Amino acid sequence: MPLFRTEAIVIRSLPYGESDRILTFFTRDFGKLKGVAKGARRSKKRFQNTLSLFTYLRLIFFEREGMGLVRVEGADLLQAFPKIRESLKKIYYGNYSLELINEMAGEREPNREAFELLFSFLSNLESEEPKEEWLRMFEVKVLSLFGYRPHLTRCGLCQKGWKELEGEPSLFFSIEKGSLICSSCSKNYNSLFRLSLGTARLLDEISQGDFRKLERFRFTPQALSESREFLPRFIEHQLGKELKSLKTLKSLYR
Ligand SMILES: [Zn+2]
Repeated sequence: MPLFRTEAIVIRSLPYGESDRILTFFTRDFGKLKGVAKGARRSKKRFQNTLSLFTYLRLIFFEREGMGLVRVEGADLLQAFPKIRESLKKIYYGNYSLELINEMAGEREPNREAFELLFSFLSNLESEEPKEEWLRMFEVKVLSLFGYRPHLTRCGLCQKGWKELEGEPSLFFSIEKGSLICSSCSKNYNSLFRLSLGTARLLDEISQGDFRKLERFRFTPQALSESREFLPRFIEHQLGKELKSLKTLKSLYR
């Protein structure tokens, strides 16, 4: 049985049987990977605390012939992110980022940029007081990196660009079209969300920009409230399901 090594972040961890754990990792080299850690709940020595949620580790695993799950052979702790666990708000933010990655990523489809994005999101969460705009930026980047980038540079129907749309009284985002929609075309669609030109520009720039430079983007209160309305809904539409962690997150802002 060949042995593999890769850097990984624990995105899901469930007890299995009397002493094992079933884990989902997001790895740098293999994308999403599911595995079983034998004796992880009994022998504290072998895996220490390396298999908890959020943990960044070096994973050593065996492929098992014909099995979907790999066998976790070892895990060296690289970073534990202990401060995320100390605040409810940080836990909610963190859980949302893990669920988004878990739902968006295909198994064994490497996506290094998405790996770096998740790592940098968790690092920020560890070291700073979280800001709501981080969630919105994370959503836009995740959508783009997994091939669902919202089309924000022109009306998705008549193709009018930003310049021609400048005088329009109201613009929208169509969830079904995944695109900006001008007011005259809006009558053709249901499930529309208000989206100003400024917000469309900001989100488009974020979607194409380097995620390591996200701190340079500033959200106005309007950009924040418009993004909050449509981005999570757009994601759930793409996934065809509701996100559990989103509900708990919303309770923070009520
Ligand atoms: Zn139009």
